[in-house]
Amino acid sequence: MMENYSEKCKKNLLEYSLEKENYKIALNEWYFYNEVIDNNEFYDDNISRPSCELCEHEDLRWQFIIYNVNNKNTLKVGSSCIKQFNIALMEKDGKKIYGKDRNSKINKIITLAKINSSNKLTFQALSDLCKIKKDLEQNNMFIECWTQLKTNGTLEPKLALFIINNFIECGIEFTELDMKIDVKKGKCADQINKMPESSYNLIRTFLNDKKRKEYDRIKLE
Ligand SMILES: [Zn+2]
Repeated sequence: MMENYSEKCKKNLLEYSLEKENYKIALNEWYFYNEVIDNNEFYDDNISRPSCELCEHEDLRWQFIIYNVNNKNTLKVGSSCIKQFNIALMEKDGKKIYGKDRNSKINKIITLAKINSSNKLTFQALSDLCKIKKDLEQNNMFIECWTQLKTNGTLEPKLALFIINNFIECGIEFTELDMKIDVKKGKCADQINKMPESSYNLIRTFLNDKKRKEYDRIKLE
């Protein structure tokens, strides 16, 4: 028998809820947190990723875990089902948010998760660095690097240089890292312009192709 989207969802939802008849009542039993599973971390390109446990939509990259208040059941679902069925996002203070506010938070959660996954190797290398140079964790420049990578996904040129010099000092391989340098802000251009050629040579691989060509012409004359 062919089931349409909402029939599938209702059936799956009622199966795991305390309420067994009315799906609108059942929906109130569910909520999720500010956390998302990035299935790209666990599955390679040849294997299809998991499906939404509500609508059975296949091959999802992002899954949110929804929790049931009554029976502790969990379901892993896609963001479109959360939006469609208006499932609550539970904030740290226990407040539930719905609708537009929740949807824009979902988008932010996914954006942050993307940033984190794109800098995975860099974060790993930074952790290795901290194991060797323990005082770095209290160093303001290092903290600023960590913050910029977490929030923007990129580093200012002078901070990238600071990190690279630390990698060199500690013998950590860095040339293949997925680190990206911020080139949008005016102050970033300033920082590159003021760098001696030897410093520029260290950071240039982490510029995007277009900017690297541009700066190569200026810096490596
Ligand atoms: Zn779904």
